[in-house]
Amino acid sequence: MKTFEQLGIASEILEAIQELGYEQPMPVQEEVIPLLLGGTRDIIALAQTGTGKTAAFGLPIIQKVDAQKKAPQTLILCPTRELCLQISADLNDYSKYVNGVKVLPVYGGSSIDSQIRSLKRGVQVIVATPGRLIDLLNRKVMSLDLVHTVVLDEADEMLNMGFTESIDDILSRVPSSRSMLLFSATMPREISRITKKYMENPIEIVVGRKNEGALNVKHVYYMVTARDKYLALKRIADYYPNIYAIVFCRTRRETQEIADKLIQEGYDADSLHGELSQSQRDMVMGKFRNKNLQFLVATDVAARGIDVDDITHVINYGLPDDVESYTHRSGRTGRAGKNGTSISIIHIKEKGKISQFEKSMNKQFERRTLPTGEAICEKQLFNLVDKIEKVKVNETEIASLLPSIFRKLDWLEKEDIIKRIVSLEFDRLLEYYHSAEEIMEPTERSSRNDRDDRSDRRDRKSSDKDGGGSRQAEKGYTRIFINIGKMDGANPANLMGFINDHVTGKINIGRIDLLQNFSFFEVPEDTAPKVVQTFKGLFVEDRKLVVEVAQESEGRSNSGGSARKTFDKKGRRPKGRRY
Ligand code: AMP
Repeated sequence: MKTFEQLGIASEILEAIQELGYEQPMPVQEEVIPLLLGGTRDIIALAQTGTGKTAAFGLPIIQKVDAQKKAPQTLILCPTRELCLQISADLNDYSKYVNGVKVLPVYGGSSIDSQIRSLKRGVQVIVATPGRLIDLLNRKVMSLDLVHTVVLDEADEMLNMGFTESIDDILSRVPSSRSMLLFSATMPREISRITKKYMENPIEIVVGRKNEGALNVKHVYYMVTARDKYLALKRIADYYPNIYAIVFCRTRRETQEIADKLIQEGYDADSLHGELSQSQRDMVMGKFRNKNLQFLVATDVAARGIDVDDITHVINYGLPDDVESYTHRSGRTGRAGKNGTSISIIHIKEKGKISQFEKSMNKQFERRTLPTGEAICEKQLFNLVDKIEKVKVNETEIASLLPSIFRKLDWLEKEDIIKRIVSLEFDRLLEYYHSAEEIMEPTERSSRNDRDDRSDRRDRKSSDKDGGGSRQAEKGYTRIFINIGKMDGANPANLMGFINDHVTGKINIGRIDLLQNFSFFEVPEDTAPKVVQTFKGLFVEDRKLVVEVAQESEGRSNSGGSARKTFDKKGRRPKGRRY
């Protein structure tokens, strides 16, 4: 294994990373650093977060900055504000002893004026989310004419979030001689399109296999009936006293519900989802980072870009739809060489998906039975006993109090004192598990009798009948109908892009339900009138667009012929016209 010095890292950067505790290069760094320093034009790196990828591109980028030129030379695009800030902070750390290097994070939701002022003072490295960068470029307050290196970080996530066209737009404004580095945890087909279009004979680096996920993450699942899902989560939470976990839920409502229940039952938990304001999100993330929270209950979207080391477990409260999402979720643990576990609490119907994930990831998922109440109490007790054994006693602080404490407890035997300490900590837990029924594993038949399951089927039936119109929007969101569907070539990414292309300002799009001839999407209540208004009188090809607030239990009929196609074969979105 080579040292950072042997990879060509300059002394002032070496000094900074030594302070950060980087002793040896991580595998992705060993591969990428010499290539970037040696002037390789294009690189594709398949690597998860937690593999050390930020330093892999960050160190050579800082080293190659010409501090005399006060204009952007390197552009790093990433999907979220959190990741944007994290990368900027890392680059600032690396450049601590390099004079004159300025890194600017550019992201939506913060004052554009202060970003413009910083740009005017001169920056060499821009770390940006695509939307805000385009905004700045359109205002002509910056130019990318001198950019020689472009990094697309978490490229698959950017595409998932509907940024494909924005990326195309940005890349068209960068000199064609630039070199490009693309990082992605997974390799969906759309990434190959980008690499083909923008890269010349790229060198491909794979840290682990494609779509494989982190190497040091164990994959475990528990099968329960829908009714027992929350109880199973509680058992897992109780069985690992030192757990530090993200619990992934599918919807904002479920996220809030689970977090509320956990909080009510005395767990250190909080929720992170799209309905929170930026400052609420920052507060929750601050508490989680400082380990004041043991459980962060989050939706996939809200958890994007979360960059916290030491997460011991990822808990999937139900499986995500595709293997890419699962890989992203599980990649939040097992970072920086540590071990992690990805636990899924699944319904019997999801068993097939487990096999599918096993095949695509080439990983074995271990089926486990939930710990019994007795096993949980035993584990917790021993954890406490262990803590008592290892606690560092602050002799000087407590010295003055000890004589009176000893006097007060003088009449108790040592055994009695131990019993009392344990009871103090554990009475509630012991009582709960004493009276709690053990959770039975479901069989095909028991799952068919599952109450929740039946209501599930009822919901699905009614939604089939009315085409999904009667589904309620998430709290704070309005459900909107659009007469574009799968038959038009729509998919979540191009539909999101289509909406954002037309509506001014950034629209936070929630749940999307694509049906054959039409679709529903959710937007924050306060933006719904603007969205509806924007599409009034708009035509796509020769078809009039119908965009309106969905009526509850509204039925929809087929409004298009079978041959219609609004988005082209490659899923590219059209521009609407007004007549
Ligand atoms: P990343 O994949 O860039 O999010 O990095 C994951 C974590 O590994 C971060 O906390 C980095 O600070 C840390 N890290 C990166 N490179 C090294 C290294 N060579 N030695 C030790 N830690 C590192």
